[in-house]
Amino acid sequence: MLIKNQIYEAQITDYTAEGQGVAHIEGCAVFIPNAIAGERVRVRIEKAQKTWAAGKIVELLEKSPHRRNRECPVAKLCGGCDFWHMDYEEETQLKAQRVKDCLNRLGGENLEEIPILAAPTCLGYRNKAQYPVAQKKGRAYAGFFRAGTHTVVENPRCRILPEQTDAVKDIVIDYVNQFRIPVYDEVAHTGLLRHIYVRRGVVSGQILVCLVINGQKLPRWEELVKNLKQVPGFTTLVLSENTRKGNAILGDTFHTLYGPGYIEDTLCGLTFRLSPRSFYQVNHHQAQRLYQAAIELAEISKSDTVLDLYCGVGTITLAMAAAAGQVIGVEVIPQAVEDAKANAQRNGIENAQFFCGDAGQAALKLEQDGVRPDVVVVDPPRKGLNADTIEALSRMAPKRIVYVSCDPATLARDVALLKERGYTLQTALAADLFPRCAHVESIVCLTRS
Ligand code: SAH
Repeated sequence: MLIKNQIYEAQITDYTAEGQGVAHIEGCAVFIPNAIAGERVRVRIEKAQKTWAAGKIVELLEKSPHRRNRECPVAKLCGGCDFWHMDYEEETQLKAQRVKDCLNRLGGENLEEIPILAAPTCLGYRNKAQYPVAQKKGRAYAGFFRAGTHTVVENPRCRILPEQTDAVKDIVIDYVNQFRIPVYDEVAHTGLLRHIYVRRGVVSGQILVCLVINGQKLPRWEELVKNLKQVPGFTTLVLSENTRKGNAILGDTFHTLYGPGYIEDTLCGLTFRLSPRSFYQVNHHQAQRLYQAAIELAEISKSDTVLDLYCGVGTITLAMAAAAGQVIGVEVIPQAVEDAKANAQRNGIENAQFFCGDAGQAALKLEQDGVRPDVVVVDPPRKGLNADTIEALSRMAPKRIVYVSCDPATLARDVALLKERGYTLQTALAADLFPRCAHVESIVCLTRS
């Protein structure tokens, strides 16, 4: 076992899923933030367990050619991003490597290399921000949590957000300070304002502001609306009531104070209505490329039935509708299903149906009702597919399964399960939807052998 506070020399050989460097010292895996593969470092051990340890770089002995000065002044503290200390080439390389390693180790594949759709820019790409609000010496401020804590790190200008989003945040904070709106304290569970949520349509320019409050009413909100109107594109102000303890950001109840309560945006040539509760990929440009890849891999023909499980507001479902005979979307969040139905209508799409429910249970029900899709698209949250969904896929036996994933480890686990049920992996692709952050998106196509 390594000794806490002792300094060791180490060679960084790999990365964790969270983007930390990995070294092996005396047979023990050591996780080191801000380290780059290939570097030699002196590391101070901060936590020592039997098989693993965590440490911090105290000296860089050999620097990677991929090391860069951080463009963001708070990057080292802020838990929002992970990779400002390296160039983008290294970042995309490690993301592709991670997807490949997962599919090989957990998915039983033997892939040599996986291509990655790299992003054209790392700046200003995020169309959504959820700023936690905090208070210091009687002054409110907003920012992002420091990694692994609930300490809010202030960042006047977040590099991955467009400036309008930060401008909204500043206006809300000014209003909070001016009218002494109580800031939420999660330990005492007192105060009012918890989070400032901002979503901006990249194409429409429309901005939705949703304030998450520990209560029902927001005092003097008319004053806030007056100021928000200075930001071009400000469209709607919504309150989300979240009076529960815990880490969930949004509450279950929403009240629209100003505007329609949703914004619109254009994606893959279609217009989408987006409510605060609905999922929408945060990187518009890269999402379009990802969906384009999904459409190509699905190889849909005009008589095909396509089932899109975990469909959100129907982005992929509706983007596939023109090529298919009929498309069916399933989604668990009622507001997202309402958005999806409205989205079919506003785009004049008549061959789409949407159901609200758990993907697995709904798919089993559809199977019982005789639905036999030719292609199934799945795009689950990080935990991947549940047993019901795997079972339904196995029974419906589509020709092709296109699996869009935000966690390569659960993707690889599910690929292994689908292989046991007669499927073969045809294509795998990584996509960078989160430049400077450790998350990586991937997409695979499986066909029935
Ligand atoms: N394909 C969509 C959404 C993907 S995100 C898009 O690209 O825009 C995953 C979606 O799955 C979210 O909308 C989430 O609300 C939904 N979801 C989560 N758990 C689910 C479940 N058990 N059944 C159905 N949908 C679920």
